[in-house]
Amino acid sequence: MAERKPLVAGNWKMNGLRADGLALARAVAERARQPHRCDLLVCPPATLLIAVGEVLAGSGVGLGGQDCHPEPKGAFTGDISAEMLRDAGCSHAIVGHSERRHACGETDADVRAKTLAAWRAGLVAIVCVGETRAEREAGRATALVAGQLAGSLPDGADAGKLIVAYEPVWAIGTGLTPTLADIAEIHAVIRTRIPADTRILYGGSVNPKNAGEILALGGVDGALVGGASLKAEDFWAIAQACG
Ligand code: PEP
Repeated sequence: MAERKPLVAGNWKMNGLRADGLALARAVAERARQPHRCDLLVCPPATLLIAVGEVLAGSGVGLGGQDCHPEPKGAFTGDISAEMLRDAGCSHAIVGHSERRHACGETDADVRAKTLAAWRAGLVAIVCVGETRAEREAGRATALVAGQLAGSLPDGADAGKLIVAYEPVWAIGTGLTPTLADIAEIHAVIRTRIPADTRILYGGSVNPKNAGEILALGGVDGALVGGASLKAEDFWAIAQACG
């Protein structure tokens, strides 16, 4: 079976002024000097990327952007290109997060274009998929995720270019999580659709209490963490739960 080192990635979303963000980055970098069994990544707001990258230098903690525009440059007010993320020191870009799919109306085709943009710039795309509460209750979670993958993933994916994050929309920021069996079922569905060495993260209300049992599931190769990544001790506790 392909070896997949776990990844614990923090999505800071639109949180952190300069002082808070740099303090958080310092605290994560400090902890990352201790032994750990996973890769670590933080995805700060765009305003903090360069400064956080400077704090993380030499720590082994990677830097990622939270989104990117499909085009490399141009008249796209307020947007940021994959090349700009790369230039700011990023190795990864989250694309297709449900907060963008749902609040900004991003389609699978948009996510696919952003994934290609990330690859063009030499970034690993972290492609997010996941069903809403209504879709799960209608028994459509598996089909929905399979459809999102079919529409969002370009051909030619490999472990050096792609990570998939399963993030049920109803679990994000709510304190709710699917059952372990439900997480395992969706990860198994994703696994059949991507190369064997490509990591699949679970995201949605991961915290220090539930991380151990989620990360112990055979098909779960790490976590994409929102709220709990804003506290270094919680983020680190989740990282420590990787076995
Ligand atoms: C996320 O938004 O990617 C996420 C997983 O958030 P939270 O951990 O806060 O549910």
